[in-house]
Amino acid sequence: MVWSMNQKTIDLRSDTVTRPSPAMINAMVQAELGDDVLGDDPTVQKLEAHIATLMGKPASCFVPSGTMANQLAIRSQTQPGDEIICHQLAHIIRYESGAPAALSGVMIHALQGPLGLFNAEDVLGAIRPRNIHFPKTQLLAIENTCNDGGGSVWPLDLIESVTQAAADAGLRRHLDGARLWNACTALGCKPGDIAQHFDSVSCCFSKGLGAPVGSALCADEQTIARARYFRKMFGGAMRQSGILAAAALYALDHNLDRLSEDHNNAQQFAEILSADSAITLNPSPVQTNIVFFDIDPARTSAEQIVKKAELQGVRTLAVSPSRIRAVWHMDAHDPERAANAIVNAINSTS
Ligand SMILES: *Cc1c(COP(=O)(O)O)cnc(C)c1O
Repeated sequence: MVWSMNQKTIDLRSDTVTRPSPAMINAMVQAELGDDVLGDDPTVQKLEAHIATLMGKPASCFVPSGTMANQLAIRSQTQPGDEIICHQLAHIIRYESGAPAALSGVMIHALQGPLGLFNAEDVLGAIRPRNIHFPKTQLLAIENTCNDGGGSVWPLDLIESVTQAAADAGLRRHLDGARLWNACTALGCKPGDIAQHFDSVSCCFSKGLGAPVGSALCADEQTIARARYFRKMFGGAMRQSGILAAAALYALDHNLDRLSEDHNNAQQFAEILSADSAITLNPSPVQTNIVFFDIDPARTSAEQIVKKAELQGVRTLAVSPSRIRAVWHMDAHDPERAANAIVNAINSTS
């Protein structure tokens, strides 16, 4: 099958590529605005109240990016010289430009474990004794779903045991919930069911939910007051940001309940790929909206396949010489065409 120009490109590079729908743009145009730095944007206030309620937290703070939400969580709950514990695959370590060191002056104790997960014993083993020689272990961060774990989901009982161990040891607990919505969809639970085990939770409106910009940090009043101070320091306090908050509110109302479609599309896509002997799904099975697969390096390279599939209107991301990532989202619809483009790209390679 040859891709013709009248077929839409299926862009699976990330779930960040979605564009606001006409209805979402309409909600943005209608938004009541004010200067949020002066504390009077009613739409931002509405979003902050709504997302805090959804997470079961007393307060929240709207921020430009998930990176800022995570970094505010770290800066607000640690002192320079403290240590935080997270998985070595965590976004906080891999994709935030060294921010924990640069902005908070903290050390990171990285844990290992399958698919970005670890258990209570791993956490207890990483906690330093209190002694003048050691950094103070201050914060545990968990990523759910875990991007580089392949969109992996933390089971609720594991979250409970890990966060309980951390709390008993006096650690603060942060959830990187950029894809918390996908975790909830997979687990069949509410955001609050997961968030209740954490002191702070970040979430993203711009990935699965399809808003153009924005994340939120939710926590207790005191932590959010500190986060607002550091948000200003880091340059993330915004003025008439209600125009963005309106998109996030629209997304929460309209785009949350449809995420299982993305998970189904990821499943179908993965199923077709796995039938090809040159492709290995890794991890398998696919748990949410993210599909990672390896190409037999004896046959061709990931980069070659990405290029060839692109000529058929399917965009993916080569994340290593042999590894490709495809992420399903609300603007990507045809898993069969997408998978066939990849399979064709491999089989047209000699
Ligand atoms: C995307 C992502 C973030 C934040 O990314 P931004 O591009 O800064 O919004 C944080 N954590 C995880 C797990 C992510 O996938």
